[in-house]
Amino acid sequence: MEVRCIVCGRKLEIAKWHPEYEQLRSEGEHAPYICERCSTMITGEAREAQQPKKPM
Ligand SMILES: [Zn+2]
Repeated sequence: MEVRCIVCGRKLEIAKWHPEYEQLRSEGEHAPYICERCSTMITGEAREAQQPKKPM
């Protein structure tokens, strides 16, 4: 099944054994999907944002 990453717009092939396959299939073509690369980037950014900034 082909899905499109909502962040970078890249098309990705989702295999049947993908943990999100069933959910994405039930939601259809427009299911919001974020590829691994973007999800890592987003969670990384979120983690950085949560850290209190130390005054220099
Ligand atoms: Zn992406």
